[in-house]
Amino acid sequence: MRKTLVAANWKMHGTKAFAEQLLVELNTGLESGECSSQVVICPPYPYLGVVAGKIGQAVMLGAQNLSEQPSGAYTGEVSAEMLLDFGARYAIVGHSERRSLYGENNELVAAKYAAAKGAGLIPILCVGESLEEREAGKTLEVVAEQIQAVVALGLPDTWQNAVIAYEPVWAIGTGKTATPEQAQEVHQFIRQQLGEAGSKTQILYGGSVKAANAAELFAKPDIDGALVGGASLKAEEFIQICCAAN
Ligand code: PEP
Repeated sequence: MRKTLVAANWKMHGTKAFAEQLLVELNTGLESGECSSQVVICPPYPYLGVVAGKIGQAVMLGAQNLSEQPSGAYTGEVSAEMLLDFGARYAIVGHSERRSLYGENNELVAAKYAAAKGAGLIPILCVGESLEEREAGKTLEVVAEQIQAVVALGLPDTWQNAVIAYEPVWAIGTGKTATPEQAQEVHQFIRQQLGEAGSKTQILYGGSVKAANAAELFAKPDIDGALVGGASLKAEEFIQICCAAN
């Protein structure tokens, strides 16, 4: 039985004071034990320590990105080991903003996935198609290529201790959510791509998830939770998403 996982991607939002306040509200709301989901918070790098210091029992720490390199002269980069030092357990890799704005291709994303896994972090691998790709009927082809780039590395137990997030690019930050049926179709396809590991791997949906649409998405058999951007910055809304799987 796969547990529901809800991960917050705070992106480059907020201040230290904002992060502290949001955490107080999240801890209070989530520690009541009423929400059955696992919860991960991925703050901006400089606030990892702040969040790690204030995180409650009900919440785990994640990063939004990491370097594919273990250490060295890579100005501005952050390694998996550094994230572990701060208590991170998860790292998002291949978010569509990293792919489109910072030129991360499938091979680099796969290398980041390997770096995270090799160090003992749980990668949250983001995959998903653009609007043009969906309209051209290429959704499954694009997602398969993104997954196969990781498979090609031949890592031991490639999909063990790993999470996949299906995030259609056209649904991220736009207010346009994929319908539960559209998301389910791709989630089921991804699960098939993972082979034997498919039945155990958590596959999250991401793209304008809100309190109002989380429950209908989570009700689909292959949707195991959500990666949440905008709505994760509002405590009450995010707590409702975390509890939507109950
Ligand atoms: C995201 O950035 O991963 C995301 C899903 O954003 P939003 O929820 O704002 O669409």
